[in-house]
Amino acid sequence: MNIAHHLDRMAALRPDAPALAHGDTVLVGFAGLRLRVARLACALRGRLGLLPGDRVAIVMPNAPACVEILYACWWAGLAAVPVNAKLHAREIAYVLGHSGARLAFVTGATADLVADAARFADETPPRVIDADGSAFADLFAGDVAPMTDTQANDLAWLFYTSGTTGRPKGAMLSHRNLLAMTTSYFIDIDPLQPGGTQIHAAPLSHGSGLYMLPSVAQGNCQVIPASGQFDAAELLDLFGRWPHVSMFAAPTMIKRLVDHPAAATAAVDGLRAIVWGGAPMYVADIEAAITRFGYRFAQLYGQGETPMTITGMSRAMLERFHRAGDSAGLASAGCAQSVVRVRIADADDRDVPAGTAGEILVRGDSVMSGYWRNPEASADALRGGWLHTGDVGELDSRGLLTLRDRSKDLIISGGSNIYPREVEEVLLRHPGVAECAVIGVPDPEWGESVLAFVVARVPGAVDATALDALCLAHIARFKRPKAYRFVETLPKSNYGKILKTELRALAALG
Ligand code: AMP
Repeated sequence: MNIAHHLDRMAALRPDAPALAHGDTVLVGFAGLRLRVARLACALRGRLGLLPGDRVAIVMPNAPACVEILYACWWAGLAAVPVNAKLHAREIAYVLGHSGARLAFVTGATADLVADAARFADETPPRVIDADGSAFADLFAGDVAPMTDTQANDLAWLFYTSGTTGRPKGAMLSHRNLLAMTTSYFIDIDPLQPGGTQIHAAPLSHGSGLYMLPSVAQGNCQVIPASGQFDAAELLDLFGRWPHVSMFAAPTMIKRLVDHPAAATAAVDGLRAIVWGGAPMYVADIEAAITRFGYRFAQLYGQGETPMTITGMSRAMLERFHRAGDSAGLASAGCAQSVVRVRIADADDRDVPAGTAGEILVRGDSVMSGYWRNPEASADALRGGWLHTGDVGELDSRGLLTLRDRSKDLIISGGSNIYPREVEEVLLRHPGVAECAVIGVPDPEWGESVLAFVVARVPGAVDATALDALCLAHIARFKRPKAYRFVETLPKSNYGKILKTELRALAALG
C-alpha cells in the first residue's frame, strides 16, 4: 500500500476536478497534479539520487508546493519530514540532523533559516532546494516515475513532536498508519463531500497536513490561503467562494473566527465542517461557535504518535449533545475511533474503573511503530503493546473520554505545544538565574500563555529583558514567556521536586 494511491485513483476518477488552489485560483486538476507529482518523484529518485526510505525535509510555511512535495515523496517511496517553519534555527538544525534528511525544500524566509541552521549542525547538512526558485521548477521538466510499490509498514512521515526533555522526537508513521487514520476519519468524523474543499490555514507540517489525506482520498480540492496562514477575514471570504469547505482549526482559531466582526454577515452556506483538535475547547466557546456558524463542527483527539486518531466527535454527535443540553458530552473529546482501542490505566498499566482518571493508552493500526533513532523512548512509550499518550483522562459509562489534564505540564498556546522544560533549560543558561519554573496560565486569546517563575542568584542579577533576549536566541518566538515573576524560592515537595500545582495556584491569585 502506498498512500499516494489515493491521488492516482482520483486522477482516474475525476481528472478535471480542481485538486490544488491558491486563494481563489485553481492551479491544477487531479490528472495534472498526478502528473506533476510523478515528475517530481522521478527527479527525486533520478536526478537527485535519493533511494527508497531516504528522508526529505519540508521546511516551508503553507504553500501549494507543500502538497506536491508530500505526494511526490510518497510516490517515490521516500519519507517526508515536515518541519514547522516557525521553529528556531537551532531546533531546525536538530531535526535536520536527527532525521538524516538528504534533501530539504525551503521557500523565501525559511531559506535563510535553514542556511542559519547549518551553523549549528553536527552532521552534513542536506542539499537545499528553494521551492520558489527555478531549480524547483526544473524538477518538473523530465519524465514521470511509476508509483513505488511500498510496503504497508514503510516509513511515510517522520512526525517531529516536542519532547518533554526539550529534544523533539520523530514519531515514525507508516503508510499503514496514515491509511488507518484516513479510514477512521471517514467512519468517525466526516465522510466528506466528493468535490468539496479543504482549506489549510493551520500548518501543513502538522495537523492540517494530516487532514489533507482523507480530503485528497475523497477528491477534495486543497486550498492554500493566499496569506499562507490563519487570517480570519480571509477565511470568512474563502468560505463564500468554495463549495463544501472543511478545515482543521485549533480552538483559538475558531474563537477568532467567531469573534471577527465580518462573521455576523459572512456567507457560510458552503462551509461543511470545522474540525478542532490539538487543545481543549471550552463549552461556552463551542456554544458561541454553534450560534454563529450552526452545526458545522466536529472534534478530534489525537497526537503525533497516533495521528488524528484516538477519540472523535462527529458533527452529528456534537449536534445531539448540544440539542440535549448535554454539557458533559460537549466537554468530552468524544469516543474511541473505530480503528483503535482506548483504555485508561493506572501507573502499573492496570485498567481503572469508568469515571476514574488515569493515563490514556491506545492500540491500533494508526499507532506509530516507535520514535526514529530512539529505542529507549520507543520502548517506554509502547510498553506492553499500548501507546502511552502521557495524557490523563477518564472514560464514562457511555464510552466518552474526558481529558482531565495534559501530558504532565505541557502548555498549549494558540494550538502549539510548549514543553516547559525546554524553556526552563534556556532560562537556566543565564548566569544570574538560580532556579526557574515555567507554567501555562489561562489566556483569553491563546488558550494558555507562558509564565516563568525565576529565582535570581542575587537580587537584581537578572531581569525580564535579558531573559527575553536569551529566549529569542535559542527557541521559537511563540515559546518564550509572556511574563516573568521574580521570587525568592520555589515551592518544593519532600523529594525536592518543584510543585507546579502550587505555582499555578499562586499565578491564579494574581
Ligand atoms: P501533537 O502531538 O502536537 O499533535 O499534540 C497532541 C496533544 O494535544 C495531545 O497529547 C493532547 O494533550 C492535546 N490534544 C489533542 N487533541 C485534543 C483535543 N481534542 N482536546 C484536548 N487536547 C487535545
